Amino acid sequence: MKALIIGAGIGGMSAAAALKQQGIECDIFEAVKEIKPVGAALSIWSNGVKCMNHLGMGHIMDSLGGPMHNLAYHDGLTGAVMTQFSLSPLVEAVGERPCPVSRANLQSQMIDWWGREKVQFGKRIEKLEQSETCVTAYFTDGSSATGDFMVAADGTHSSVRAHVIGYQTERRYADYVNWNGLVNIDENIAPGNQWTTFVGEGKRVSVMPIADGRFYFFFDVPLPKGLNEDRTTLVDDLKGYFKGWAKPVQVLIDSIDPEVTNRIEIHDIEPFDTLVKGNIALLGDSAHSTTPDIGQGGCSALEDAVVLGQCFAETKDIQTALKDYEEKRRFRVKDLVLKARKRCDVTHGKNMQETQAWYDELRVEKGDNIIAGLRTTIVGGPLA
Ligand code: FAD
Repeated sequence: MKALIIGAGIGGMSAAAALKQQGIECDIFEAVKEIKPVGAALSIWSNGVKCMNHLGMGHIMDSLGGPMHNLAYHDGLTGAVMTQFSLSPLVEAVGERPCPVSRANLQSQMIDWWGREKVQFGKRIEKLEQSETCVTAYFTDGSSATGDFMVAADGTHSSVRAHVIGYQTERRYADYVNWNGLVNIDENIAPGNQWTTFVGEGKRVSVMPIADGRFYFFFDVPLPKGLNEDRTTLVDDLKGYFKGWAKPVQVLIDSIDPEVTNRIEIHDIEPFDTLVKGNIALLGDSAHSTTPDIGQGGCSALEDAVVLGQCFAETKDIQTALKDYEEKRRFRVKDLVLKARKRCDVTHGKNMQETQAWYDELRVEKGDNIIAGLRTTIVGGPLA
């Protein structure tokens, strides 16, 4: 049995790993010649780390995961601590730690684990043909490939999605811009073992430690879409948006390199119920595109892959296995997208009264409520 995997991102590589565990041959086709991830880093929460372990790639998490032992929120303007607590109770409750990781290193190591020479780069699918027994992918370079089934892990701008769900989706702007990158850990910004977030005015600034002594940082600012901002204005833009904010935020802005900082207008896609059409399955961002507000987009791609493998462990009938995958995933992924959207609106001041109420809650938070929320999301995964 042979699967065509479209896309060599986290979704495609983990799907290949899961299918390989079931003895299914996979050919992986990636549009670009060289993968250049859009974000600097990712927090792979415990549910995602468990999936990586299950798929035989736990060593990648061990080597890339930063020492994120504590969590804190600060008032962005005064710098005062609103809440600060250990993440140990979460790790104990769910049985695995969260791992903030360099995105480029994660993707690169997943590809190396599979065998870089076995991934076919420069293969952009532009159309496909589907019959009861096979799927053929046609690529923009004029070549084609045929398999028994296809896993389309071709990301949020998926070319395969409309064929599967029957209509073109619109990406929904989440009303904020995110800047992200990496800097060396500096205790003048925040402790090196802590996920630290500064909040105020519906904006946020966050740092998370990844391996190798670096912080993954991000800035979020509610803004209209399509502003005329780029690398040349980046530092001044951030200085303007965070004028009057606390010293650590200014230190962070002064340490960033605009040449390697990403500026992203954040979007999601209204969730849909169809993830499978016959012998074609959507997986990862092609199946569910979320705002990054609960850090679950990549984690849910990993969950998809694990469930896909579990479905093929139960039956080798392709259409039955894929339908089962759809049934097991559609509620979970819809829930995560909508949960992230809700969190996004509160964090980014969609209704400033609600955001202010959240700031007030943070000032009396001891950690229990935040840990309970994280735990609920994590244990909803397939390896809870
Ligand atoms: P992608 O990573 O987009 O990979 C798709 C691949 O398919 C790409 O390599 C692309 O080149 C290829 N491709 C596209 N079109 C074609 C085609 N026509 N033919 C062949 N190949 C094609 N998730 C988390 O879990 N934790 C986080 O902390 C987190 N933070 C985030 C922060 C930001 C700012 C953003 C934007 C996202 C964040 N996410 C996070 C979400 C996460 O990045 C995505 O959910 C994840 O990368 C999805 O993986 P994927 O493989 O489905 O898609």
